[in-house]
Amino acid sequence: MNGLNVPSQPCPNCGELNDSATCLTDEREEPAVGDFTVCVHCKNLLRFGYGLVVERLGPQDLADLAVALEQLGKQLAQLTCEPPHQTQPSPEDQSEPG
Ligand SMILES: [Zn+2]
Repeated sequence: MNGLNVPSQPCPNCGELNDSATCLTDEREEPAVGDFTVCVHCKNLLRFGYGLVVERLGPQDLADLAVALEQLGKQLAQLTCEPPHQTQPSPEDQSEPG
C-alpha cells in the first residue's frame, strides 16, 4: 500500500499494528492531528490525536465526523461529476403530439 508513514502503534480497538495512512482524496496529503482514519485491520473509525497517536472516537468526534463527511462528499462529487448539459429541444420535440 502506498501510505505515508505514521508512528507505528497498535489500534486502540483491535490491537493490530498500524504504521501508515493514505488520504482518500490526495495520496500525497499527510495526516494531521484531528484527521479521521480507519484501522486497516478491524475497519474501526479512529482519529489522530497529538503526536499522530490514533484514538477512539468520543461524542465530540462524532459531531466533527458529520461535518467531515459532508466536506468529503462535496470533494468526491467535484472529482466525479460533470456539470449538467443544457440541451436545446429539436424542432420535432416542439411539435404538438398526435
Ligand atoms: Zn483495529
